[in-house]
Amino acid sequence: MTSPALAATIDLDAIAHNVGVVRDAARADVLAVVKADAYGHGVLPVARTALAAGAAELGVAHVDEAVALRAGGISAHITAWLHTPATDFGAAIAHDIDIAVSSSRQLAAVVAAAAARSTTATVTVKVDTGLNRSGIAVDEWADFAESLAKAKADGAVSVRAIMCHLARGDEPDHPLNSEQAHRLDVAADDLRRLGAGPEVMHIANSPAALTRPDLARDLVRPGIALYGRTPVPERGDFGLIPAMTLTAQVSLVKKLSAGEGVSYGHTWIAPTDTTIAILPAGYADGVPRLLSGKFAVRINGRSFPGVGRICMDQMVVDLGPDGGGVAEGDRAELFGTGRDGGPTAKDWADTIGTIDYEIVSGIGRRAIREYV
Ligand code: PLP
Repeated sequence: MTSPALAATIDLDAIAHNVGVVRDAARADVLAVVKADAYGHGVLPVARTALAAGAAELGVAHVDEAVALRAGGISAHITAWLHTPATDFGAAIAHDIDIAVSSSRQLAAVVAAAAARSTTATVTVKVDTGLNRSGIAVDEWADFAESLAKAKADGAVSVRAIMCHLARGDEPDHPLNSEQAHRLDVAADDLRRLGAGPEVMHIANSPAALTRPDLARDLVRPGIALYGRTPVPERGDFGLIPAMTLTAQVSLVKKLSAGEGVSYGHTWIAPTDTTIAILPAGYADGVPRLLSGKFAVRINGRSFPGVGRICMDQMVVDLGPDGGGVAEGDRAELFGTGRDGGPTAKDWADTIGTIDYEIVSGIGRRAIREYV
């Protein structure tokens, strides 16, 4: 087997295990969130694995992502929840995608697309209960609910679900979580009174699914937990297993004399004669440039510090005067499960002040996805 220059190895057993962890914690069915190419893990293998492991259905942001799942042979229920005036609702209807609508305008566009096909569109009502992002705004709610009831009575839509997204789910005890759930319950009651009641309700993202089973309703909507990363580290890792390991093949090993500088700007000067290794990974691959000089990699079980600036395609590590026993062609682990003491995506995130969601979903396409 050839060894890719850069590889993101995805442990599908970990994904399957993590589906079970979330379902058990929430005591509810799982709508697996596989948007953004399954947070960088590769949407089709992840979707198939999650469904085989017992996830009930799938969710994505864009209709195009949902259509790609259908093209990949996925027949499970799929909800898509982020649209623009240019979104092709006709394609969504043709592919039996549940369209989560966030405004009366979106509902009208879905109704028109259904009428053009003389069919009924399946919709989820996405309510803005406090995140103030997408979702039907409070001041629009009464008009929206009436339009929805009319569209349902006319046979233009069937109302499959009602959902909202939490603003502070990663603060499990924050009162806004229960308040948002209460607002969604009230909205669902409104729809029932108008004869447009939803069949199911979902609220909880990963942190809420793991810590607030009382918010679970019919389904939970985890993303990051499926990929093995706890969104509430202060509450533990819940037995989740990180699914992505990023490795690069050492492309060059060379000697460096004391006093010589490394990479653009010579921000690191070799304090002694040493040996460096060049790795084919850089910021174009999603390795943040802000990590320059602030990370370590593992090669053959040993840790070596990154030195100098991370470039677009390459980075440099210091192997020490004796070369650390590293040879060209060896594989360097940039991040992995952390279980063997190696670096993790969370280490990177903590170092540069972001979240590991951003790290894993930002790993570029030059990293060949390998599935084990
Ligand atoms: N639901 C919606 C609407 C989302 O946008 C997301 C992701 O941001 C999720 C669920 C999953 O969130 P998490 O990855 O925190 O579980």
